[in-house]
Amino acid sequence: MRYLVISDLHANLTALETVLADAGQLGQDYDFVWCLGDVVGYGPDPNECIDRLRSLPHLCIAGNHDWAALGRLDIRTFNADARKAVGWTRETLTDENLAFLEALPITFVLGDFTLAHGSPREPVWEYILDPLIAALNFSYYQTPYCLVGHTHTPVIFRMAGDRGECDAVAPEYNMRVRLNGSRQIINPGSVGQPRDSDPRASYAILDVDNMTWEYRRIPYDYKLVQQRMERSDMPERLINRLEHGW
Ligand code: ZN
Repeated sequence: MRYLVISDLHANLTALETVLADAGQLGQDYDFVWCLGDVVGYGPDPNECIDRLRSLPHLCIAGNHDWAALGRLDIRTFNADARKAVGWTRETLTDENLAFLEALPITFVLGDFTLAHGSPREPVWEYILDPLIAALNFSYYQTPYCLVGHTHTPVIFRMAGDRGECDAVAPEYNMRVRLNGSRQIINPGSVGQPRDSDPRASYAILDVDNMTWEYRRIPYDYKLVQQRMERSDMPERLINRLEHGW
């Protein structure tokens, strides 16, 4: 069984379609999609991204931007551009797609994997930005592996030694890494708004029969997305960041 693992689509249909094409054939190259949240927010295609995800066999958990679109979060902590995007997203989403977001769980455990958007400790909110924060999170889930998104940065945090130490491993693309049973918190990076100074869409293929994880990175036509954002009068900063990957 092979999973296409994606996160932080952020209503960027062009990036999502590019990733799906790059991932190959459903049923042949991958069997199921795990989506780690933030399907909407920032980008111009919230309904289209939800519809596309729903067209595939998938499991999706809720991200903070999905909750923000539902009015479930106090968005005063969001910056002005993000707040504007939340308002636009909320008005644009169909009732059916709002209901889809409403029904998303915040964590899910499947076999050796726990899924959460931010962290196992604070699934919707917490950013696991460094090994210290990762180390604090290992006691908040039971499985060997935890998959998270939220930071928009691909990285693997590995428990090293038995004294709670942890190291961060940067991704190597198109290489299958064996998951060897040591506890790890793994982030596939972001499809629709990467923030590691690389504008290419990031995703991963998880093979649970051979227990391998493979990072992939693929350029997409962000100019098309920027044009749609301009037409929807979205904040310039959100439009510009796509080409820089921050
Ligand atoms: Zn996000």
